[in-house]
Amino acid sequence: LAERLQGTMKKITGKGKVSEQDVKEMTREVRLALLEADVNFKVVKDLIKRIKERAVGQEVMESLTPGQQVIKVVKEELSELMGGEQSKIAVADRPPTVIMMAGLQGAGKTTTSGKLANHLRKKHKRQPLLVAADVYRPAAVDQLETVGQQLEMPVFSKGTDANPVDIAKEAVEQAKAEHHDYVIIDTAGRLHVDENLMGELEEIKTAVNPDEIFLVVDAMTGQDAVNVAESFNEQLGLSGVVLTKLDGDTRGGAALSIRAVTGTPIKFAGMGEKLDQLEPFRPEGMASRILGMGDVLSLIDKAETNVNEKQAKELEEKMRTMSFTFDDFLEQMGQVKNMGPLEDLMSMIPGANKMKGLKNAQIDEKQLVYVEAIIQSMTKEERQDPNLMNASRKKRIAKGSGTSVSQVNRLLKQFNEMKKMMKQMTNMPKGKKGKGMNM
Ligand code: GDP
Ligand code: MG
Repeated sequence: LAERLQGTMKKITGKGKVSEQDVKEMTREVRLALLEADVNFKVVKDLIKRIKERAVGQEVMESLTPGQQVIKVVKEELSELMGGEQSKIAVADRPPTVIMMAGLQGAGKTTTSGKLANHLRKKHKRQPLLVAADVYRPAAVDQLETVGQQLEMPVFSKGTDANPVDIAKEAVEQAKAEHHDYVIIDTAGRLHVDENLMGELEEIKTAVNPDEIFLVVDAMTGQDAVNVAESFNEQLGLSGVVLTKLDGDTRGGAALSIRAVTGTPIKFAGMGEKLDQLEPFRPEGMASRILGMGDVLSLIDKAETNVNEKQAKELEEKMRTMSFTFDDFLEQMGQVKNMGPLEDLMSMIPGANKMKGLKNAQIDEKQLVYVEAIIQSMTKEERQDPNLMNASRKKRIAKGSGTSVSQVNRLLKQFNEMKKMMKQMTNMPKGKKGKGMNM
């Protein structure tokens, strides 16, 4: 599907404004991508409508193709729908801050309780108390105690005979006495949402008045996760959602729907079984994941922030008139460098890692330093006109740049090849040629 999207994107390059047809083609693919990623149907419908309204008639940024421009709008809408970065955790006026973890069996509550405790200690220098309030599964208390041992963190438990409400109440008292600033209550789950479970959770809520109620949901359960979130939110009133198992190959469309349907922000993402694999939830990364577009989107971001549109236009003009010089080459390189490690950049171009020869071409950042040094050792005239180059000039340049004549030769060859390539590109029939720099 990602390939199809890219195909559509390519088809509609080279126009100055986003046309209705562009948007139509793009949104058809986007709609499919979203549905495939398990985004709720109604959410998709609303979203596509908004995207259409926004995208048609937009000026295409010089550094983007119309297809990319539409995707940019899609990305912005998706991120907005997921509600910005939300990894803040409440701080109670009078400690301890009480966090209650809820969710179905197997969603990852116990693991996430440990992860959260670890996060609070590491990032915020807090001293959490973990509370084992799941008394139904025989091994549940042991499991949390093991987590506590791994983290070298205290766990409050009263075995499996005590009542969860009493456990929660006593734990908060003990936390006060022992000056813990956070209490994380790991509760029991069921296979499905049921009355008993909700009743018990409500009782715990009433007893300890939590500052946060986090619902832990398994991202792999797709649409079900949305229904679960809806029921828990209605009954308990959630303050946040933790989406677990995002390290799997799920597309995570549930993330989008959960936020849209319940209005509850997703605060963290579980990225593995280990206790340090919890990350703040990032809507933008999720947006690209949902669209399945690799990192096309972050490439768009980079292009946006780094490529000065006017420069791009001038460059295109130079390419056309063949007045491209070593100075331009140097400037180009500077831009590329601004965009971060070259290899990162290449890996972001969809399909680039599949391109033959690219692997062998292994972009060597050190090589760039030499190239820069060589060009800087050229005189102004030499930079403008590489034809001036002769043996003695090459020797001088090699000496000045701390390189060898063969390195200088290699650069000259590369430069000529690049010029040749540009000539081919600029000779392409109109309409086929990308507008500006299609990076
Ligand atoms: P609970 O029943 O809700 O308490 O769920 P658990 O914390 O016991 O987790 C159930 C299973 O999911 C365990 O095997 C965990 O190791 C696993 N798990 C939890 N979070 C993640 C995650 O983010 N990624 C992966 N891959 N596994 C997870
Ligand atoms: Mg558990």
